[in-house]
Amino acid sequence: MNTNLIKKSTAFIIAILFLLLLSSVVATGAMAYDGGPGAGIVSTSGGNLNVRASASLNGAIVGKLQKGTYVTLLEKTAGGWWKVEYASNRYGYVSGSYITAVAGSYRANVNVTWGNLNVRSGPGTSYPVIGSLPKGTGVTVLTSSGGWCRVLFNGTRTGYVSSQYLGVREKIKWPVPASGKINQYFAQGRHLGLDIGAVTRGVAGDAVISATSGKVVYSGWLNGYGYVVYINSTYNGQPIQLRYAHLKEKSYLEPGYSVNAGQWIGSMGNTGTSSGVHLHFEVRIRNSSADCIANADSRPVNPINYF
Ligand SMILES: [Zn+2]
Repeated sequence: MNTNLIKKSTAFIIAILFLLLLSSVVATGAMAYDGGPGAGIVSTSGGNLNVRASASLNGAIVGKLQKGTYVTLLEKTAGGWWKVEYASNRYGYVSGSYITAVAGSYRANVNVTWGNLNVRSGPGTSYPVIGSLPKGTGVTVLTSSGGWCRVLFNGTRTGYVSSQYLGVREKIKWPVPASGKINQYFAQGRHLGLDIGAVTRGVAGDAVISATSGKVVYSGWLNGYGYVVYINSTYNGQPIQLRYAHLKEKSYLEPGYSVNAGQWIGSMGNTGTSSGVHLHFEVRIRNSSADCIANADSRPVNPINYF
């Protein structure tokens, strides 16, 4: 056998293998995770990352995140900013240039039948409890193994929860398709819904759509809500109620009507106890599958966890 031929053949095979390897790296690069909602790692070159009140360098700084920390990614804006939960129930925007999305991470909801879900420092019930999450809370699953999930919770904290109490995350529709403006967030015991602002500040009439399919249980004037519609629905099998308040006028919907997700409900307005045109949107967990019109028949939860 000609040794030169063997050498040439070997070199040729090595070259082919190298090209195959290179193409697989390129292919992997092209398919790299570009970041849906999930977890991100702060990847500044040094120093802290500013969290801003709006998706712009002009937005007021509302918080700071250290390099290397995890942060909960909720939504990417068209301009390349991430809407993040940067502390428990605190939301803001960070530049996408300084966030590395964690491949394979995904959002899930706490789905206990009663009480809160314990978060532990390790994957087992012998580890200390480091957090407690009410039903419906959104968390981000980082990894999952042996019945335990390592999760990101309260924005930037990590811990372990039993995977059987995490539900697949259903999504409800954003009730004002034309406007993503949030004027006020949910605050337990103080502000029971999410306030979504008008496309043009002060101008009523933006379309309000149903975030879910369901059944209308109230439609008309009610105290501070002004013109309001209550729609009963279910989320992961859990009876919920959605309330759309301060509508411009009484909705054409009547109790007993069935609505589809995305169906027009009415126009954004400023009726009732309201200091400007906006939609006050509530998501409430019903105590039963009954109509549940009284406030005591349901309890408000943070709507942000349901989109
Ligand atoms: Zn409100």
